[in-house]
Amino acid sequence: MELEKTLHMARALVLADLSAGDVARADVVSLVEDAVAHRRWWVEQWPQGAQFVTGLVAQDVQDALLERYGRWPLCPVCVGEGDPHALEVEPELGADPHWVCAKTAVAVARVGTLGAVGAAGGGGGSSGSGGGGGGGQGRGHESESEH
Ligand SMILES: [Zn+2]
Repeated sequence: MELEKTLHMARALVLADLSAGDVARADVVSLVEDAVAHRRWWVEQWPQGAQFVTGLVAQDVQDALLERYGRWPLCPVCVGEGDPHALEVEPELGADPHWVCAKTAVAVARVGTLGAVGAAGGGGGSSGSGGGGGGGQGRGHESESEH
């Protein structure tokens, strides 16, 4: 069914962006699940809104993260300029949502492609401030086959 496909895609795209920001922990993933569940209900009431679901889920997750963890995703354009700020989803209610820097009016990436931006950037201070840590990452043992 189309709706399921749409919701699945929204979930996958937002999770991809969370992974890019290295915040896709189990409790954060459950925030995405909550947002998707909520939008499932919403789009059932208003099927024409299906094309907006990805942008809306991204914003829902962004809001939920702001309460618990702080700003996400941080703007890669203004990084290093003192006061980091979060990107905004534009259009708020539209198809093909992008993460946009409201300060410089730069469209940084489509929702779901933040990871590609980080890879292309090169160099730059990867957020090395301590803190966090802990959370057992599920993967990352691929290159451990030396023996
Ligand atoms: Zn910015």
